[in-house]
Amino acid sequence: MAISLSSKDYTDYIHIIAQRINSEGDYITGLDAATGDGDHWTNLNAGFTALVSISDELSRLSIPDMLKRIGMTLMSAVGGSSGVLYGSAYIAAAKASAGKESLDLAGITAMLDAMLGAIMARGNAQPEQKTMIDALHPAVQALKKAADLHEDEKEALKDMKAAALNGAESTRTMAAVRGRACYQADKGVGHLDPGAVTMAHQMETLAEYLLSK
Ligand code: ADP
Ligand code: MG
Repeated sequence: MAISLSSKDYTDYIHIIAQRINSEGDYITGLDAATGDGDHWTNLNAGFTALVSISDELSRLSIPDMLKRIGMTLMSAVGGSSGVLYGSAYIAAAKASAGKESLDLAGITAMLDAMLGAIMARGNAQPEQKTMIDALHPAVQALKKAADLHEDEKEALKDMKAAALNGAESTRTMAAVRGRACYQADKGVGHLDPGAVTMAHQMETLAEYLLSK
């Protein structure tokens, strides 16, 4: 069956990723304590908790209205750089999904590509600068490449997941150009970027959710 994503599906995914992020507190806080100020998990967990609390409402909205509501919620509930970046990402995703009642794999790719563009613009950041972009950019590239090669949709999602996880892992050797790690003497070299790890976990969970549907 072809991949498809409705607002109800996306809300189901929100529940799963919220639970996952909630369980990763010590790990993610430890990553941000090493290269930043230690609040990344608290910020993101507050955001997903807020989304879960409005999930009934989200599930009844159209895809663009749901994505916009998610963006506005994250913008106000999430502190730090992540709040603005995720808020802008979801608001751009809403615009990219205008008029859609559900998303096929091309629509999901367009949604993620819009999020990537918004994060890069808002954060004034590029790939290879040790940020969340280093997980999202390879994920979007993998989906685009799979579409160009007319790859099976399930294979495309598996490629997307692997690309996001590998991308997060690749931040370990990067010197930070953006984010708080760039103020450290070692530029965070030797440490994973926390935002890239949580982004990769979102991509992995989304891929697995779509694969299991
Ligand atoms: P803060 O850095 O304000 O404390 P968080 O701790 O919530 O915010 O988020 C930190 C993460 O945000 C970093 O690990 C990085 O992935 C991402 N990030 C920070 N600055 C930028 C930027 N300019 N562009 C893209 N991502 C960024
Ligand atoms: Mg922080």
